[in-house]
Amino acid sequence: MSELNLILMGPPGAGKGTQAERLVDDFDLPYYATGDILRAAIAEGTELGKEAQPIVEAGDLVPDELMIGVIMERFDTPEAEDGFILDGFPRTVGQAEALDEALDRRGRSLTAALLIDAPAEEVIRRLSGRRICVKNGHVYHVENDPPKTEGVCDQDGSRLIQRDDDKPETIKRRLSVYREQTEPLIDWYDQRGALRRFDGSRPPDEVHSHIRATLATLALEAEL
Ligand SMILES: [Zn+2]
Repeated sequence: MSELNLILMGPPGAGKGTQAERLVDDFDLPYYATGDILRAAIAEGTELGKEAQPIVEAGDLVPDELMIGVIMERFDTPEAEDGFILDGFPRTVGQAEALDEALDRRGRSLTAALLIDAPAEEVIRRLSGRRICVKNGHVYHVENDPPKTEGVCDQDGSRLIQRDDDKPETIKRRLSVYREQTEPLIDWYDQRGALRRFDGSRPPDEVHSHIRATLATLALEAEL
């Protein structure tokens, strides 16, 4: 069986997390969010985790080389021998090149970079509609999952608020940072023929079917 080595990219609010969960179920692949595996390496006290700990504790960015090492520790485990889903890395072309080299040294390569994209207005509509209850953090959405009474939590009667992170101005800023950082990376994968785009503004089931069909085609091509 051919490997399914996948990178997941996309702006906040485009449904990347939902699709990641489904891909994990579909293909039985391990999901590596880089923040999580870095924290796990530190908690487990692996050699690289020990190296990363003081850097993370100081609030500094972990150097690319070290981050690649932490990722490769995971890729080298039996659970990732048939593939993986990597989320949150690379963020720059330099990191993408370093990741490619590290995979190459292991005789492996990336199957595809999956980009789940959505226009800014859709992302803003989705994220800015979120309301959180002040008492227990229950989550609602003014359009997709409204409470029975506007502004009041169904479960505990407490007040619903919009977090600062979900305010349109904050979302716009996050999106523009995301675009600025990620556009060159998207182009880079596109030039290598590795990029696969999906329309995250479509319903999740539809996006999911589209991704499955794309991966099935890639698997067939790999066997030819
Ligand atoms: Zn509540």
